[in-house]
Amino acid sequence: MAQSEANVVVLGAGVVGLTTALLLSKIPNYHVTVVAKHMPGDYDIEYASPWAGANYLPVGAPGSLLAKLEKGTWPELQRLASSVPEAAIHFQNTVVQNRSKDVNSAVGTWFAELLRTDPWWKDTVPDFRVLPKESLPAGIDSATAFTSVCINTAVYLPWLVGQCLANGAVFRRGIVSHISEAAALHASGKPASVVVNCTGLGSLKLGGVADTAMYPARGQIVLVRNEPGVMTSTSGTDDGPDEAVYIMQRAAGGGTILGGCLQKGSWESQPDPSLANRIMKRAVDLCPALVGGAGGPEKLDVIRHGVGLRPMREGGPRVEKERIQGVWTVHNYGHGGYGYQSSYGTAQEALRLVNEALASKAKL
Ligand code: FAD
Repeated sequence: MAQSEANVVVLGAGVVGLTTALLLSKIPNYHVTVVAKHMPGDYDIEYASPWAGANYLPVGAPGSLLAKLEKGTWPELQRLASSVPEAAIHFQNTVVQNRSKDVNSAVGTWFAELLRTDPWWKDTVPDFRVLPKESLPAGIDSATAFTSVCINTAVYLPWLVGQCLANGAVFRRGIVSHISEAAALHASGKPASVVVNCTGLGSLKLGGVADTAMYPARGQIVLVRNEPGVMTSTSGTDDGPDEAVYIMQRAAGGGTILGGCLQKGSWESQPDPSLANRIMKRAVDLCPALVGGAGGPEKLDVIRHGVGLRPMREGGPRVEKERIQGVWTVHNYGHGGYGYQSSYGTAQEALRLVNEALASKAKL
């Protein structure tokens, strides 16, 4: 069925806003304006997307909305990795290692579904297998291997902007203090029929939303030039329950991301040098191939240290519609540490809600 003409404002230009804008802008009658304080190219503590690895390691509990969004995202990431090289997404051999002792730690809880040997997503990603016990390193209780992807976010976010522009979307900088103000920022000068709220952690303070279920989970990374040869993570470390070790090489010369941590409630924007040292040491211990099989962290060639705040939400992402001060609003935020791996699923859901909102508006 052809959609009738509609002006839509997407508020936010992180991976969630851009992917949502992309799907909306594919509909010829939808005139999309993306309004955001931060855009691709910016590096800022209020802007999570550039800091992500980013890879696809599903963590949604079976039957949850997040699991549905992650499942709905894989086919498009796979298509992009297979046949759209300019999106800068490549396939990676992936190994995930589990230590039973991490089960109740912050990282172990976050990774609970990822660490299972029989997860719901075993039939979603290619080549899933449980590694034989006798092949595991000391201290590792179980491990799985599969094919996943890693996204070069420095190329992929601008690529998303380019796709939206090619579909006629307009981008403009703007800061709103109340969600309903966004409707007046459509590029046509006429009010938008629907606003899609993709403000991530901004939804904690944004007027008309002020979602107190939102909180930051700080992630610190080191970007290096070294190549690991495998994408790998473990369930935890012996350096504290909120410290993690993961390694992923970005596509298209993007370097290798070494992580990390999941520090709930921390707003600290600056890298902690001692945590950076622990991240580098753990990465080399887990994957000596990073430094050619011999030597320590001094052999890592650092490009940049970074900190991002994952937009976490108690209860998981919010993808819902509501009328706020007479403006139809579709919320699409709270994607924590999984905004890329749920991006297409959540954008499809937001598109469905925009269509519903416009259909009900037509009946008013
Ligand atoms: P953001 O990227 O934060 O974008 C929010 C947008 O809203 C910005 O444009 C901002 O300017 C705008 N905005 C907010 N408030 C306002 C306002 N009032 N007015 C105007 N504009 C406003 N995810 C994965 O899937 N895989 C990974 O491997 C992965 N690794 C990660 C590693 C780290 C270290 C971190 C920090 C995160 C990682 N993530 C990963 C999570 C992922 O980065 C986030 O889930 C995702 O970036 C959230 O995107 P977003 O668009 O919701 O928010």
